[in-house]
Amino acid sequence: MPLRIPTRSLIAAALSALLIACGSSDSGIVTVDSQGSTTVDAAALDATLQNYPSATLSSAEAEGIAYMREEERLAQDVYAASATHYSLPIFANISASEATHTEAVRTLIERYQLADPLAGTTNGVFPTPAFQTLYDDLVAASAVSLVEALKVGVQIEELDIRDIEARKVDVDQADILLVYDNLLRGSRNHLRAYMNALLARDGSYTPQYITQEAFDAIVNSPIETGG
Ligand code: MN
Ligand code: MN
Repeated sequence: MPLRIPTRSLIAAALSALLIACGSSDSGIVTVDSQGSTTVDAAALDATLQNYPSATLSSAEAEGIAYMREEERLAQDVYAASATHYSLPIFANISASEATHTEAVRTLIERYQLADPLAGTTNGVFPTPAFQTLYDDLVAASAVSLVEALKVGVQIEELDIRDIEARKVDVDQADILLVYDNLLRGSRNHLRAYMNALLARDGSYTPQYITQEAFDAIVNSPIETGG
């Protein structure tokens, strides 16, 4: 068993290096607009994943995928609720991006024939109680004012970054890492977009899930357009 993980990590790293060398690591998977909304193209992702080896997932990998499926939907649904209150296009635009993120995670669920935690659910309904509570709280907070809704946007993106990075630790499959890295890039771009809009309205924000240093490094760096 100790040999399995290093070997698979080496294969994953070699495969990533090969794909990067070929210039096709991310090509066409992600598009980023001028405001930072970061969209995953499901068909391009599917086509790219065909080139990756598939294997049996660890339970931690499987649980991480199910968790992120719900968390990406939470972002989609909270921003959709904000879009009903405020005409600022950021909410509808990023909600649409998040819909592609939760779909990207569903692609992994189908690829590995996992149970989809969101099967049969409607928007705003979450089978994991903690997500339901968080959704209800964040929708309520977002309804207070535009500035509060922008802060909620920053908060969700910060949470996504912490949670995806935490789940990456358990992953040695290159296909899952490809999806997570693109979701992370999306979250960093969305964090920048919400912070820019918040600062333009004299709002401020104190990070609660990642360090101030990590938060500042993201906010003070440009939008990542990627491959
Ligand atoms: Mn996302
Ligand atoms: Mn996001």
